[in-house]
Amino acid sequence: MNVLVINCGSSSLKYQLIDSASEQVLAKGLCERIGIDGAITHQPAGKDKIKIEAAMPTHTEAIALVLEQLTHPENGVIKSLDEIAAVGHRMVHGGEKFACSALVTDEMIAAVESCNAFAPLHNPATLIGINVCRELLPGKPMVGVFDTAFHQTMPKKAFLYGLPYEYYEKHGVRRYGFHGTSHKFVAQRTAEILGKNIEDLKIIVCHLGNGASISAVNGGKCVDTSMGLTPLEGLIMGTRSGDVDPGALEFIADLEGLSVKEILTLLNKKSGVLGLSGVSSDFRDIEGAAAEGNEQAAAALEVFRYRVAKYVGSYVAAMNGVDAIAFTAGLGENDKVTRATICSYLGYLGLEIDPVANDMRGKEAIISTQDSKVKALCVPTNEELMICRETVALVK
Ligand code: ADP
Repeated sequence: MNVLVINCGSSSLKYQLIDSASEQVLAKGLCERIGIDGAITHQPAGKDKIKIEAAMPTHTEAIALVLEQLTHPENGVIKSLDEIAAVGHRMVHGGEKFACSALVTDEMIAAVESCNAFAPLHNPATLIGINVCRELLPGKPMVGVFDTAFHQTMPKKAFLYGLPYEYYEKHGVRRYGFHGTSHKFVAQRTAEILGKNIEDLKIIVCHLGNGASISAVNGGKCVDTSMGLTPLEGLIMGTRSGDVDPGALEFIADLEGLSVKEILTLLNKKSGVLGLSGVSSDFRDIEGAAAEGNEQAAAALEVFRYRVAKYVGSYVAAMNGVDAIAFTAGLGENDKVTRATICSYLGYLGLEIDPVANDMRGKEAIISTQDSKVKALCVPTNEELMICRETVALVK
């Protein structure tokens, strides 16, 4: 069956139409600048990309255009909307309400709305996507797949902050984690590549993109992850600080005369490797600058990689061992130096990188030596395919 996967942001929308039987992408694309002016980039499989500028005052026009392109006489890949069997929506924050994907119903939507306070920018956008699809594809079964769901198996010792317990009880202040769909996909794929049962494996997944997070997956279940109540905690990222001493915030606020809101903007948008390097949030730019002798850029890379290695070490402790470490997302899939440097901290585990196997980008590969006690892998993530699979499982 064909599943339309929708990833709806506040001013953009990504989509893929996937044939679930063959797991082939039939078409994919992106609507941008919704509410500003609007443009759609549509790519039918095996054909050139088409870019059309079109007014998109709201998400309704954007999704209508996606459906028009999918059924278009030339650019289309299906004859009619009847050929879309179901829609899978990427959702952001499901709080403690969603430990797995869920069929879209009025009750489900109300439950998502009750989590909006955790992700005030992102959750409402995903709900707009659902509501527009309900309007334009009436009666079509739909499923929501949450970024937080895979991490709901974390035990209390991993998800509680050292804060007054009443804040957890009253307001749900705890660690939730994000990128769950990617962590789940990569953990499953890692087990498949190794030819092992996921129930028998201790896996650490390093999702290293512009946003970065790491998770400990024991027997197929997440037992810890680096992001928290919000996606700001944990690793150093493109523009996000990751872990910082909360005491430093008042110190900076006082010295620089910043409000709480301004401090949060600083932590989310101006920190991470961008803030550290003073060059860019894009690792390719930072690596370029470091290669030309920019010491601040070199330090930013070191701080980033060291933090990942420290988290890996802590997750080995969390699981009392590790069988495999998988690298994914923009940097994890493409940057052999980052992978090798992180692995170089982990020799004590019996992890030995194979420089020849690691000398590639964007491909599935075991990058450790044959004798390496702990396996290291590169596993390109595929969140859309995971959303398609979860949708099919629930719709069937
Ligand atoms: P997100 O989805 O969180 O926006 P991605 O997973 O697409 O991010 O990752 C984007 C990051 O991956 C960018 O910082 C980019 O520099 C990095 N990246 C992509 N290709 C390479 C490469 N060949 N070498 C180093 N970094 C790369």
